[in-house]
Amino acid sequence: MVSASRPLTHSGLPGATSGSLSVARRGAPRKDSNADGAESLMTETAIPTRTPTATVVDDTVVPFQVDALDLRGRLVRLGPLVDEILGRHDYPLPVSRLLGEAVVLGILLGSALKFEGRFILQTQTDGIVPMLVVDFVAPGKVRACARYDKERLATAMAGDGADSGALLGRGHLAMTIDQGPHMSRYQGLVPLDGGSLEAAAHEYFHRSEQIPTRVRLAVAEEFHPGHDGLRRRWRAGGILLQFLPSSPERMRRPDLDPGDAPEGAAPHVVAEDEAWTEGRALLETVEDLELIDPALSHERLIYRLFHERGVRVFRSVALAAECSCSHRKIMDMLRRFSSGDRAYMVENGAISVTCEFCNRTYVIDPGELESESAG
Ligand SMILES: [Zn+2]
Repeated sequence: MVSASRPLTHSGLPGATSGSLSVARRGAPRKDSNADGAESLMTETAIPTRTPTATVVDDTVVPFQVDALDLRGRLVRLGPLVDEILGRHDYPLPVSRLLGEAVVLGILLGSALKFEGRFILQTQTDGIVPMLVVDFVAPGKVRACARYDKERLATAMAGDGADSGALLGRGHLAMTIDQGPHMSRYQGLVPLDGGSLEAAAHEYFHRSEQIPTRVRLAVAEEFHPGHDGLRRRWRAGGILLQFLPSSPERMRRPDLDPGDAPEGAAPHVVAEDEAWTEGRALLETVEDLELIDPALSHERLIYRLFHERGVRVFRSVALAAECSCSHRKIMDMLRRFSSGDRAYMVENGAISVTCEFCNRTYVIDPGELESESAG
């Protein structure tokens, strides 16, 4: 058990700074409402409703809430899930890392769906990676894939132009919510302009949802000694934080574009709400390592960040890498082609189809198709 006053111990990946990580350094500049500090005394006794657990459970998303600051968020940590998705594709490292970030972002956003539904995150750009797709089916099935330009990637990797902004390039990021045939489909678009996925997500929430939001994404490879040398394993993690006060007036933002204001007009200055300033500052202290550390539980990290204000943690949701492709679906797809087209696809007596999402190959006997489509 961890008491509120004791700094949590940070045990990291090899090469990480170890030792204790004091929660005090998280202190964002904040003002107490009264001079004698009565408010801060009060909030310090408002301890989390659950004691942080030390158990690390990978491939889960944990929602949390900081009532004192009107903050809501979700934390995701991925182990086997992201290793399976990236391992199956085995893209070059920079592409894997970028797709890993997209997977984390897709889960952070898609896990907001309360019931059944599908969330699709897709980029379409002129970059070295012109397409990334993450397909999330509530409550927790994920699949993802990417396309990349081999030659341009090799050139970029030979130089130092393989950061995520350069890989993504310019175009847009589309987010689609599909909640079944009886609900209208929603699509939000945000421009990608040589920046990161994190930046695009911030832009989306700023412009479209107008909810103050911050997102952090991290992806890394872990190395384990095996009998034939080091074995690589992917890990990833991310956190999303939103400011949702009961009065929408408090969500106003200081940096909205002045629009068609006459040139030279003084910009409209709006002070950001102090609760959001504090929340944002706390989130900025999260290190990539903390998001992927296999020895740090979700709850310990959430607690480490927000315990001074009192944080509530909700039931976690399990996630899995799962594709929806099947022999049946491939057959149905092939049946939509004419038999002439299908004959053209036959190689060595069979039609083989590879699912772009999971890289699984289905070998179909053309005879089986012809007999079924005839009947
Ligand atoms: Zn598949």
